[in-house]
Amino acid sequence: MKILVADDSKTNRALITDSLNKLGHDVLPAKSGEEAIEIFKGNRPDLILLDVVMGGMDGFECAKRIREIDSTDWIPIIFISTSVDDESISRGINAGGDDYLAKPFSNITLAAKIKAMQRISDMRQKLFEYTQVLQTLSRTDSLTGLNNRFQFDIIIQEKINHANHHGSMFAVLFLDLDHFKEINDNFGHQAGDLLIKNVALRLKSCLRLSDFIARMGGDEFAIILSEIEDVEIVNHVAHKIIAELTTPYNLLGNQVTVSSSIGSCIYPTDGTKAEELMRNADTSMYYAKEMGRNNYKAFNKKLVKDKG
Ligand code: GH3
Ligand code: MG
Repeated sequence: MKILVADDSKTNRALITDSLNKLGHDVLPAKSGEEAIEIFKGNRPDLILLDVVMGGMDGFECAKRIREIDSTDWIPIIFISTSVDDESISRGINAGGDDYLAKPFSNITLAAKIKAMQRISDMRQKLFEYTQVLQTLSRTDSLTGLNNRFQFDIIIQEKINHANHHGSMFAVLFLDLDHFKEINDNFGHQAGDLLIKNVALRLKSCLRLSDFIARMGGDEFAIILSEIEDVEIVNHVAHKIIAELTTPYNLLGNQVTVSSSIGSCIYPTDGTKAEELMRNADTSMYYAKEMGRNNYKAFNKKLVKDKG
């Protein structure tokens, strides 16, 4: 293990370092709480041993500051102190510590405490990794690997905040495949799935890395074109997508053609709230379908009056 040891006494640092080296651990020594924080930031140890009483920043304050650094709560902290009374135990745990070592201690006690902390650290790290995996899964569409509706809701809000702050524009496009049910009916659900996957790939190929795509469900996709300077660009991208998606697909040996309908709206001219932007992009898409499908329609306020 890589163990950070903070103690302002040179003799104590040397003694603990020697014991830890004998137990097969690597030591990152720090002369003060301040130095411990600096070393911690650059090295991310597996365990931290903090002397409570140090000149300058004490062990409690040092632990508190370390815990304020992002994703460090799975790294165990053990305090070392001559006075392990009720008050200091309570202060230490409240500062983010996990255990105490009462001075003087034997190598056997030191080894046992480290083993116990390693178990806790392993469990915390696993939990952290599972949480990361779950978070990714909860935001991903399992069929296409694209972002899902849940992630779209998060990203559109982020784009609104960013555009609001920078005074920039972005576009929201809603796309739905035309007569997709017929593909399922004529070629089977598996072929339908394959088509959706292919559409996802083609959509990606039409967009920049800074743009965002999500599968909202079924045969519906949402796109955010970031930082657009000219609304004409939206028109251009929408027609490029329509053309790209109509190129025939080979689905399990069948040559299949499908078209799509796209509706769009612009932040901030067509709406400033996520809900409003999604509703207006959806309304425009509805009109693109009404116009006979295989069409693109940009939002304007007249559409709402006509629909309502
Ligand atoms: P329209 O032109 O009006 O959009 O007609 P459509 O046939 O495409 O109808 P709609 O968009 O309303 O329906 C999409 C269909 O997609 C409904 C459902 O049968 C099918 N579907 C939804 N999810 C999946 C999926 O994951 N895989 C496959 N293969 N089909 C799906
Ligand atoms: Mg459809």
